Amino acid sequence: MKWTPITQATAGSNLGDYEHARADFTWEDAGKSLAGLPGGRGLNIAYEALDRHVTKRTAVRWLDRLDRVHDFSYLGLTALTNRFANLLAGLGVGRGERVFTLLGRVPELYVATLGALKAGCVLSPLFSAFGPEPVLQRIRLGEGSVLVTSPELYRRKIRPLRAELPSLRHVLLTGNDAEPGTIALGEAMAAAGTGYEIAPTAPEDPALLHFTSGTTGTPKGALHAHAAVLAHLVTARYALDLRQDDTFWCTADPGWVTGMSYGVIAPLVLGATLVSDEGEFDARRWYHVLSSRRVTNWYTAPTALRMMMREGDELAKGFDLSALRFIASVGEPLNPEVVVWGRDTLGLPIHDNWWQTETGAIMIANFAGEEIRPGSMGRPLPGVDAGLLRRGDDGRAAVTAGHVREITEPGVEGELALRPGWPSQFRAYWNEPARYEKAFADGWYLTGDVARRDADGYYWFVGRADDVIESAGHLVGPFEVESALLAHPAVAEAGVIGKPDPVAGELVKAYVTLKPGYEPTEEQRLELLVFARKALGAVAPKEIVFDPHLPHTRSGKVMRRLLKARELGLPEGDVSTLEVSG
Ligand code: ATP
Ligand code: MG
Repeated sequence: MKWTPITQATAGSNLGDYEHARADFTWEDAGKSLAGLPGGRGLNIAYEALDRHVTKRTAVRWLDRLDRVHDFSYLGLTALTNRFANLLAGLGVGRGERVFTLLGRVPELYVATLGALKAGCVLSPLFSAFGPEPVLQRIRLGEGSVLVTSPELYRRKIRPLRAELPSLRHVLLTGNDAEPGTIALGEAMAAAGTGYEIAPTAPEDPALLHFTSGTTGTPKGALHAHAAVLAHLVTARYALDLRQDDTFWCTADPGWVTGMSYGVIAPLVLGATLVSDEGEFDARRWYHVLSSRRVTNWYTAPTALRMMMREGDELAKGFDLSALRFIASVGEPLNPEVVVWGRDTLGLPIHDNWWQTETGAIMIANFAGEEIRPGSMGRPLPGVDAGLLRRGDDGRAAVTAGHVREITEPGVEGELALRPGWPSQFRAYWNEPARYEKAFADGWYLTGDVARRDADGYYWFVGRADDVIESAGHLVGPFEVESALLAHPAVAEAGVIGKPDPVAGELVKAYVTLKPGYEPTEEQRLELLVFARKALGAVAPKEIVFDPHLPHTRSGKVMRRLLKARELGLPEGDVSTLEVSG
């Protein structure tokens, strides 16, 4: 199917003209929009996010589960984070020590995060829905000294395993009720002072430890420095069109890099108001939040958008979304169908952008006011130098040092790579130097994703390097097949893998979730096979099976490796981030 490019009519974007913005950009110049710590004592993310603003404007607009609104001002949060930093100092927690959070989207999460950064600690956020084992695994790997959590999460996930965490000196529990071996955060905060001089932190000092989604294997701990804040600022301005007067809602949980870089840091650095919703995903509730909170910029993920689309357009039309100016998506390929649905149903096309835990910030994006190509991730941001590297002749062998060849012609698939040097680049995989080394070759950072670039420099996602299918001499990207299936009205979601085949090498096999009202009949299956065949020709799936729940990571990505392991009857590997569906 051919999708026509979309250009959103906007009253000027932050980026201006793409080519000029790129040509004029240097990170050094951009760095002038940072304040820096007073007295030339360095750079600290929390100072840029809070203290520098000195205003009573709302920083965090928190919605609790009952949809009650609680506003926290910049000044208020400055004082609260000072208290938290003082509290850490009182406990003898020093610079560089790891402070973990295991919290839902509650105010304490924002306070602990920015307070720990003020103290010069390394903050590592864990997703609150993790089971005990994944939590243990990460705190142990990161050698955490402090954990901030709720009494309930503590009882369920930490207490039974605490003895296995010798590094963990302090556990702080939200509220005023401590239990043996823990400290009540509420009381400790009340006792701590509101004045605090932020620890001198250099741009290269470590600040954040983020675990990857575990889509392709054991999660990696990507370490980021305070310098990353410059990339958060620049990319939010350009790729999310965010401005100081905006109300910004990033739906990702701060337990993942998106929810931290854009759900906490970027909007605050820009002085905007961020919306934080304690509730879980529900299409109706999300429309309600967008409309009742007058959200201007919304940053979300393909799975959520697909689910909202599945609920039908009538629901969407029942809400006033007139405040909304910009919608962006990240985390997984965004099917062109969804981009166009946004334009037709929400009144705004959806801007896909691409990045990873390792990159710390958005690297490739469709920009406000620039042409959106549905199905494309967009073009590299100013300051980002991307390229495609040729893989082995079978299209699969990894790119290795000494054998790097850059692809210059359009339309050719290769491994997406970045020239190191942007501020939010990860500085290490925590305690895994060999894994880190392997991510670089001949002056490139290798992303592990395969893409192609068109003649105008737009990048098109093909698949994870490990997921690309080789079938009867064709290289098949799962995303293309999934998108073709999604264009059928019955399909809500699809996951595509290569199934070993003695003749073709691999057969394209699709797992399909149907929309409500469609039955998983043989007739439906044949209809989809024919539909896909028409759209895709030789690379169409040969097999389609219906599956009401595709396996997802907790950050919302289809776990193709799990579909494949199940297909092959192999062990499932690391499933610590697998979402348990009901
Ligand atoms: P792991 O590295 O542990 O296997 P992960 O790669 O899913 O997990 P993240 O860092 O959360 O962990 O996700 C980054 C990956 O998500 C990218 O490398 C890419 O494969 C995918 N991704 C992100 N944004 C997009 C996008 N806009 N289009 C296509 N894929 C995307
Ligand atoms: Mg990855």
